Amino acid sequence: MDYKKIAEMLFPNNKLTVEDIEKKYPPRNLKEGAEVTRFAPSPTGFMHIGGLFQAIIDKNIAKRSGGVYILRIEDTDKKREVIGASTIILNILKKYGAEPDEYEEKGVKVVGNYGPYFQSEREEIYKAYAKKLVSEGKAFPCFCRKTEGLNDVKEKREKMFSLGLTEDKDPCRNLTEEQIEEYLKDGKPFAIKLKAKGNGQNKVKIYDVLKGELEMQENGEDAVLLKSDFMPTYAFAHAVDDHLMRTTTVVRGEEWLPSYPLHLEIFEALGFKPVKYVHTPLIYKIRENGGKTKISKRIDAEADMRYFSKEGYEPEAVEEYLVNLANSNFELWRKENPLAPLSEFPFDGFNITANTPVFDIVKLNDISKELIAKYSAEKCYQKLLAWAVENSMENVEYLKKDKEYVIKVLNIDREKDKPRKDIYKWGMFFDYYDYMFSAPKTYQIDESERKKFEEVLRAYKNYIDLSDKTIWFDKIKEMSKKLGYAVDNKEYKKSPDAFKGNVAKVCEFIRVAVTGQKNSPDLFEIMSVLGKEKVLERISLIV
Ligand code: GLU
Repeated sequence: MDYKKIAEMLFPNNKLTVEDIEKKYPPRNLKEGAEVTRFAPSPTGFMHIGGLFQAIIDKNIAKRSGGVYILRIEDTDKKREVIGASTIILNILKKYGAEPDEYEEKGVKVVGNYGPYFQSEREEIYKAYAKKLVSEGKAFPCFCRKTEGLNDVKEKREKMFSLGLTEDKDPCRNLTEEQIEEYLKDGKPFAIKLKAKGNGQNKVKIYDVLKGELEMQENGEDAVLLKSDFMPTYAFAHAVDDHLMRTTTVVRGEEWLPSYPLHLEIFEALGFKPVKYVHTPLIYKIRENGGKTKISKRIDAEADMRYFSKEGYEPEAVEEYLVNLANSNFELWRKENPLAPLSEFPFDGFNITANTPVFDIVKLNDISKELIAKYSAEKCYQKLLAWAVENSMENVEYLKKDKEYVIKVLNIDREKDKPRKDIYKWGMFFDYYDYMFSAPKTYQIDESERKKFEEVLRAYKNYIDLSDKTIWFDKIKEMSKKLGYAVDNKEYKKSPDAFKGNVAKVCEFIRVAVTGQKNSPDLFEIMSVLGKEKVLERISLIV
């Protein structure tokens, strides 16, 4: 069989040789031990939180070793592609601390010498390597109808195995030169398939950085490499691109683990040095019934990274949360270094927590509260405004017009030794501080206490003094005494029946009158920012 001739028949116009290509993408000039990683999403218009989790690990491994981290867009499935999706991905990576060193912005710029970074622009490269494999008798054309892609093959293979059968080799691997020539003359479309070496019966040893050495069933399938539209399958593009981009470590979801033996065989057939793999666990979420399942874009808003932007989460908080999910020693480090920037954490992308990561929004909110509590009021204002410009246009004008007032509100219980840790996303600001912008619509007051509540408020009209916190409180105490409330808590505890309540109760009534709620940030600060007139107005709404 003249494989060279067949390769020429299949790809008559493909003049680009593998040698030319190898010359164009030489080994990188990096120091010993430097890692080259890549994040390789498909542009479906959607960036999954698990994708960012991987990208953060990619970035870390490259950065720590003085290497390079690439963004490669896997857009070979034109049916699934969404226009503008790669821009969404790039923006999210930039925003959440995972900006790639090499990437392409369609029509704008290319950063790096190992592109194109869109797979759809690498067709000639894939063809050259497919041609080489055919010319060496390691791959063959398949003219069957089922040439669309990996899925068919995978399904077929799984079915065979579940029936306890081994994969029959593809009948097209036995076509004669004449048959191939005839099919080509008839204009029959073809795919290129790998001539699998094994029969799927033997075991192969594979190595994953997190899982260690594993034994798996060898590949037994004549897998599709190039589909009939000449677009590569994931497995083939993975081998070709990661070889040419000089990737040293592939970080990808553990759903790719089963096809590892196939990937290994393709690397081998092409004569490529295999890469290291970090198969990351998928992120799960606890469900109402107590069980956990994968976080999914169909049911979980938080699966889509755009959710965090829309809600106004601080990107740094999200990044810190994902680092925390990835490295179990993060929490202790954070406790010991409460003020240190995240970049100082000795994050180890090769040592990802073995346990299934479980997404917990409460934990994220706590991290975010800690972070935002460190900001000045002015910084909060700028962040809030930037969020509103993108997500809440209706508030922008107000934020600009009343900047000073908004900063005062943001400064309640802030810029002090122990700032209040309450705001965790900008989207909650107007709801959370609703009472700073309009009088309460409801009051958290028990009906049994309404009489006392009204009595206190009626009296308080004559005691409001906001000149400073001590005077303000002295006045409340003075009034409390007069109304029969205990000012000294010890006294009150000794004989509670002798009083209507204590001064804390009086403050609670005032707090409810002003804010509608029993809990709020510092009451004096709230009242000072509102001003005496507004406070009086609010009390007058009740009594
Ligand atoms: N395009 C693949 C995916 O979306 C990339 C997997 C990999 O990183 O190799 O899952």
